[in-house]
Amino acid sequence: MIDETALVVFSGGQDSTTCLFWAQREFKEVHALSFRYGQKHEREVELARAIAGKAGVSFTVMDLPLIGALGHNALTDTSMPMDEQIPDGKVCPNTFVPGRNLFFLSVAAVWARERGIRHIVTGVSQTDYSGYPDCRDSFIKSLNVTLNLAMDEQFVLHTPLMWLDKAQTWALADELGVMDIVRRDTMTCYNGIPGDGCGHCPACKLRREGLEKYLGTINN
Ligand code: ZN
Repeated sequence: MIDETALVVFSGGQDSTTCLFWAQREFKEVHALSFRYGQKHEREVELARAIAGKAGVSFTVMDLPLIGALGHNALTDTSMPMDEQIPDGKVCPNTFVPGRNLFFLSVAAVWARERGIRHIVTGVSQTDYSGYPDCRDSFIKSLNVTLNLAMDEQFVLHTPLMWLDKAQTWALADELGVMDIVRRDTMTCYNGIPGDGCGHCPACKLRREGLEKYLGTINN
Protein backbone atom coordinates (compact mmCIF):
# COMPACT_ATOMS: atom_id res chain seq x y z
CA MET A 1 0.00 0.00 0.00
CA ILE A 2 1.14 3.52 -0.84
CA ASP A 3 1.12 5.79 2.21
CA GLU A 4 -0.50 8.66 0.30
CA THR A 5 -3.91 9.89 -0.84
CA ALA A 6 -5.47 9.19 -4.24
CA LEU A 7 -8.23 11.02 -6.07
CA VAL A 8 -10.52 8.82 -8.18
CA VAL A 9 -12.39 10.35 -11.12
CA PHE A 10 -15.67 8.65 -10.39
CA SER A 11 -18.84 8.30 -12.48
CA GLY A 12 -20.47 5.41 -10.63
CA GLY A 13 -20.10 3.09 -13.62
CA GLN A 14 -18.55 -0.37 -13.60
CA ASP A 15 -15.04 0.80 -14.46
CA SER A 16 -14.62 3.74 -12.11
CA THR A 17 -16.31 1.83 -9.26
CA THR A 18 -13.80 -1.00 -9.69
CA CYS A 19 -11.08 1.67 -9.67
CA LEU A 20 -12.48 3.20 -6.47
CA PHE A 21 -12.10 -0.09 -4.61
CA TRP A 22 -8.74 -0.77 -6.27
CA ALA A 23 -7.57 2.62 -4.97
CA GLN A 24 -8.79 1.76 -1.48
CA ARG A 25 -6.56 -1.32 -1.57
CA GLU A 26 -3.57 0.56 -2.95
CA PHE A 27 -3.66 3.89 -1.10
CA LYS A 28 -3.95 5.02 2.49
CA GLU A 29 -6.79 7.43 1.75
CA VAL A 30 -9.16 7.89 -1.19
CA HIS A 31 -11.42 10.69 -2.42
CA ALA A 32 -13.97 10.44 -5.23
CA LEU A 33 -14.75 13.26 -7.66
CA SER A 34 -17.80 13.21 -9.95
CA PHE A 35 -18.95 15.63 -12.61
CA ARG A 36 -22.27 17.02 -13.71
CA TYR A 37 -21.49 17.89 -17.32
CA GLY A 38 -24.93 18.04 -18.89
CA GLN A 39 -25.27 14.26 -19.22
CA LYS A 40 -28.82 13.09 -19.98
CA HIS A 41 -28.77 10.75 -17.02
CA GLU A 42 -27.78 12.99 -14.13
CA ARG A 43 -29.04 10.26 -11.85
CA GLU A 44 -25.60 8.66 -12.26
CA VAL A 45 -24.23 11.32 -9.90
CA GLU A 46 -26.58 10.20 -7.11
CA LEU A 47 -25.74 6.54 -7.74
CA ALA A 48 -22.06 7.48 -7.55
CA ARG A 49 -22.66 9.29 -4.26
CA ALA A 50 -24.36 6.19 -2.83
CA ILE A 51 -21.49 3.89 -3.88
CA ALA A 52 -18.92 6.27 -2.39
CA GLY A 53 -20.97 6.22 0.82
CA LYS A 54 -20.89 2.42 0.93
CA ALA A 55 -17.15 2.50 0.35
CA GLY A 56 -16.72 5.07 3.11
CA VAL A 57 -15.02 7.47 0.71
CA SER A 58 -15.50 11.24 0.71
CA PHE A 59 -17.39 12.42 -2.36
CA THR A 60 -17.40 15.69 -4.27
CA VAL A 61 -19.42 16.75 -7.33
CA MET A 62 -18.27 19.52 -9.65
CA ASP A 63 -20.41 21.19 -12.29
CA LEU A 64 -18.90 21.37 -15.77
CA PRO A 65 -21.96 22.22 -17.90
CA LEU A 66 -19.78 23.70 -20.62
CA ILE A 67 -18.86 20.18 -21.77
CA GLY A 68 -22.49 19.45 -22.63
CA ALA A 69 -22.95 22.93 -24.07
CA LEU A 70 -19.89 22.78 -26.35
CA GLY A 71 -20.74 19.93 -28.67
CA HIS A 72 -23.44 17.65 -29.98
CA ASN A 73 -23.32 14.05 -28.88
CA ALA A 74 -25.79 11.37 -27.87
CA LEU A 75 -24.86 11.41 -24.18
CA THR A 76 -25.74 15.08 -23.64
CA ASP A 77 -28.21 15.87 -26.46
CA THR A 78 -31.62 14.39 -25.67
CA SER A 79 -32.79 14.78 -29.28
CA MET A 80 -29.96 12.69 -30.74
CA PRO A 81 -30.46 8.94 -31.08
CA MET A 82 -27.35 7.03 -30.10
CA ASP A 83 -25.19 4.99 -32.48
CA GLU A 84 -25.63 1.37 -31.52
CA GLN A 85 -22.48 0.59 -33.51
CA ILE A 86 -19.59 2.63 -34.90
CA PRO A 87 -20.91 3.92 -38.23
CA ASP A 88 -18.88 3.19 -41.39
CA GLY A 89 -16.36 5.87 -42.24
CA LYS A 90 -16.54 7.53 -38.82
CA VAL A 91 -13.82 7.14 -36.22
CA CYS A 92 -15.97 7.76 -33.16
CA PRO A 93 -19.54 6.74 -32.31
CA ASN A 94 -21.84 9.69 -31.48
CA THR A 95 -21.71 8.71 -27.80
CA PHE A 96 -18.19 10.18 -27.78
CA VAL A 97 -18.11 13.40 -25.71
CA PRO A 98 -15.20 15.39 -27.16
CA GLY A 99 -12.74 16.60 -24.55
CA ARG A 100 -14.49 14.89 -21.65
CA ASN A 101 -11.51 13.06 -20.18
CA LEU A 102 -9.23 16.00 -20.97
CA PHE A 103 -11.49 18.35 -18.99
CA PHE A 104 -12.23 15.87 -16.19
CA LEU A 105 -8.59 14.99 -15.57
CA SER A 106 -7.44 18.61 -15.83
CA VAL A 107 -10.04 19.73 -13.27
CA ALA A 108 -9.21 16.71 -11.11
CA ALA A 109 -5.53 17.66 -11.16
CA VAL A 110 -6.24 21.23 -10.04
CA TRP A 111 -8.60 19.93 -7.34
CA ALA A 112 -5.97 17.43 -6.21
CA ARG A 113 -3.18 20.03 -6.22
CA GLU A 114 -5.22 22.28 -3.91
CA ARG A 115 -5.29 19.42 -1.40
CA GLY A 116 -1.70 18.22 -1.78
CA ILE A 117 -2.74 15.06 -3.66
CA ARG A 118 -0.63 13.84 -6.56
CA HIS A 119 -2.15 10.44 -7.35
CA ILE A 120 -5.13 10.52 -9.72
CA VAL A 121 -6.97 7.36 -10.75
CA THR A 122 -9.11 6.99 -13.89
CA GLY A 123 -10.97 3.95 -15.22
CA VAL A 124 -10.13 4.38 -18.90
CA SER A 125 -9.24 1.29 -20.90
CA GLN A 126 -7.58 1.02 -24.27
CA THR A 127 -8.59 -2.63 -24.61
CA ASP A 128 -12.34 -1.87 -24.72
CA TYR A 129 -12.05 1.76 -25.70
CA SER A 130 -15.18 1.87 -27.87
CA GLY A 131 -13.56 4.20 -30.39
CA TYR A 132 -12.94 6.94 -27.81
CA PRO A 133 -9.47 8.42 -28.42
CA ASP A 134 -9.25 9.88 -24.90
CA CYS A 135 -9.33 6.39 -23.36
CA ARG A 136 -6.04 5.39 -24.95
CA ASP A 137 -2.74 5.00 -23.13
CA SER A 138 -0.89 7.47 -25.38
CA PHE A 139 -3.39 10.22 -24.48
CA ILE A 140 -3.11 9.55 -20.74
CA LYS A 141 0.71 9.51 -20.83
CA SER A 142 0.74 12.70 -22.87
CA LEU A 143 -1.72 14.44 -20.52
CA ASN A 144 0.28 13.32 -17.48
CA VAL A 145 3.33 15.12 -18.89
CA THR A 146 1.23 18.16 -19.81
CA LEU A 147 -0.36 18.45 -16.35
CA ASN A 148 3.03 18.24 -14.70
CA LEU A 149 4.39 20.95 -16.99
CA ALA A 150 1.26 23.09 -16.61
CA MET A 151 1.45 23.18 -12.81
CA ASP A 152 5.06 22.24 -12.12
CA GLU A 153 3.87 19.19 -10.21
CA GLN A 154 4.59 15.47 -10.07
CA PHE A 155 1.14 14.04 -10.71
CA VAL A 156 0.83 10.33 -11.38
CA LEU A 157 -2.17 9.27 -13.47
CA HIS A 158 -3.07 5.69 -12.56
CA THR A 159 -5.01 3.57 -15.06
CA PRO A 160 -5.49 0.13 -13.48
CA LEU A 161 -7.90 -0.97 -16.25
CA MET A 162 -5.88 0.25 -19.24
CA TRP A 163 -4.95 -3.21 -20.55
CA LEU A 164 -7.88 -5.18 -19.13
CA ASP A 165 -10.87 -6.27 -21.19
CA LYS A 166 -14.34 -6.19 -19.59
CA ALA A 167 -14.09 -9.82 -18.42
CA GLN A 168 -10.80 -9.02 -16.67
CA THR A 169 -12.36 -5.93 -15.10
CA TRP A 170 -15.10 -8.16 -13.65
CA ALA A 171 -12.35 -10.49 -12.41
CA LEU A 172 -10.68 -7.55 -10.66
CA ALA A 173 -13.97 -6.54 -9.00
CA ASP A 174 -14.35 -10.12 -7.78
CA GLU A 175 -10.75 -10.19 -6.50
CA LEU A 176 -11.47 -6.94 -4.60
CA GLY A 177 -14.59 -8.54 -3.06
CA VAL A 178 -17.03 -6.04 -4.60
CA MET A 179 -18.64 -8.09 -7.36
CA ASP A 180 -22.14 -7.59 -5.90
CA ILE A 181 -21.77 -3.83 -5.50
CA VAL A 182 -20.48 -3.46 -9.07
CA ARG A 183 -23.26 -5.66 -10.49
CA ARG A 184 -26.13 -4.10 -8.56
CA ASP A 185 -25.27 -0.50 -7.74
CA THR A 186 -23.34 0.84 -10.73
CA MET A 187 -24.74 2.35 -13.91
CA THR A 188 -22.97 1.88 -17.23
CA CYS A 189 -26.07 1.92 -19.48
CA TYR A 190 -26.43 4.75 -22.04
CA ASN A 191 -30.18 4.59 -21.44
CA GLY A 192 -29.77 5.36 -17.76
CA ILE A 193 -30.81 2.04 -16.21
CA PRO A 194 -28.64 0.87 -13.26
CA GLY A 195 -27.38 -2.67 -12.70
CA ASP A 196 -27.83 -4.93 -15.70
CA GLY A 197 -29.17 -1.96 -17.68
CA CYS A 198 -31.33 -1.87 -20.82
CA GLY A 199 -29.45 -4.81 -22.31
CA HIS A 200 -29.14 -3.49 -25.86
CA CYS A 201 -27.08 -0.26 -25.87
CA PRO A 202 -23.35 -0.63 -26.69
CA ALA A 203 -22.31 -0.11 -23.06
CA CYS A 204 -24.72 -2.80 -21.82
CA LYS A 205 -23.57 -5.23 -24.51
CA LEU A 206 -19.92 -4.75 -23.62
CA ARG A 207 -20.64 -5.09 -19.90
CA ARG A 208 -22.81 -8.20 -20.30
CA GLU A 209 -20.45 -9.97 -22.71
CA GLY A 210 -17.58 -9.34 -20.30
CA LEU A 211 -19.60 -10.66 -17.37
CA GLU A 212 -20.67 -13.80 -19.24
CA LYS A 213 -17.09 -14.43 -20.32
CA TYR A 214 -15.81 -14.01 -16.76
CA LEU A 215 -18.55 -16.15 -15.20
CA GLY A 216 -17.89 -18.79 -17.88
CA THR A 217 -14.21 -18.80 -16.90
CA ILE A 218 -14.81 -19.34 -13.20
CA ASN A 219 -17.55 -21.93 -13.72
CA ASN A 220 -15.37 -24.15 -15.91
ZN1 ZN B 1 -28.06 -0.01 -21.83
